Amino acid sequence: ETDAAMHFVDATMLAGWLPERPKFAHKGTYGHALLLAGSHGKIGAAVLATKACLHSGAGLLTVRVPGIGYDILQISAPEAMTLTDPATDFITELPDLKPYSAIGIGPGLGKEKSTKDVLVKLLREAQAPLVIDADALNLLGENRELLAQLPADSILTPHPKEFERLTQPARDDYHRLELLRTFCQQYRCYTVLKGAYTCLGAPEGTLYFNSTGNAGMATGGSGDVLTGVITALRAQHLSPLHAAVLGVYAHGRAGDLAAQETGEAGLLAGDIVRFLGPAFREVT
Ligand code: AMP
Ligand code: MG
Repeated sequence: ETDAAMHFVDATMLAGWLPERPKFAHKGTYGHALLLAGSHGKIGAAVLATKACLHSGAGLLTVRVPGIGYDILQISAPEAMTLTDPATDFITELPDLKPYSAIGIGPGLGKEKSTKDVLVKLLREAQAPLVIDADALNLLGENRELLAQLPADSILTPHPKEFERLTQPARDDYHRLELLRTFCQQYRCYTVLKGAYTCLGAPEGTLYFNSTGNAGMATGGSGDVLTGVITALRAQHLSPLHAAVLGVYAHGRAGDLAAQETGEAGLLAGDIVRFLGPAFREVT
């Protein structure tokens, strides 16, 4: 049973997945992404996801941040539109979702009660595909009845600790992969289990192992970058499978290119962002 349906991801299978840029393309062709991210002291997570989303080809990006994030976002990422929440320190209200072709939620979000209510409302109302990370996953872990509300084809991006909160402690790495397969089948979602060998689980139980990335990426903010990347790919109308596989591959490859310049110890999440363009160029 377990040796069925496992794939190893390499560059050759990704060719042509990123949308072309024909001469008469315009920004409307590449979708409008929405990110909900940041809280007091964690606006940097929103900035990193924002920059990553912009560098992964989204046509337009709007970012929902608490009031305290307004100046920071506008100055650090002028290409993104900022839609501030009425509250200063954390997100309390869901904006109108009509304009968006994909929605990412979680980086630096915090777990305030009113932020949880925003997540509940998002699960109920979203028509656009979702990418769910970080504290949004932790909120799901603390309120597991919400997992049954996940819209079809949602992508979740937990690291092993977040995955444990969604499921149970794994006995070993092999058991964790079994839990991954079962979880994706039960909730009909795509789950990116992050780590040295990131593995994507698909709803029918197939597992995809990634081949890029390095230990320099074991640093704060790396995962927030991945959220921005995958949200941008979903906004550009890639399927959930293609968005997750290509996103994880390009994120790891950008980390590898960055590490050639910075070394692994010196690598910051922002360096991954700088090399997303070159990483995508290799596979298109
Ligand atoms: P997070 O813990 O949410 O910041 O996510 C960390 C990101 O960095 C994930 O995309 C991981 O796959 C990646 N990462 C962390 N440690 C390693 C490692 N040792 N080798 C490769 N990738 C890693
Ligand atoms: Mg994270």
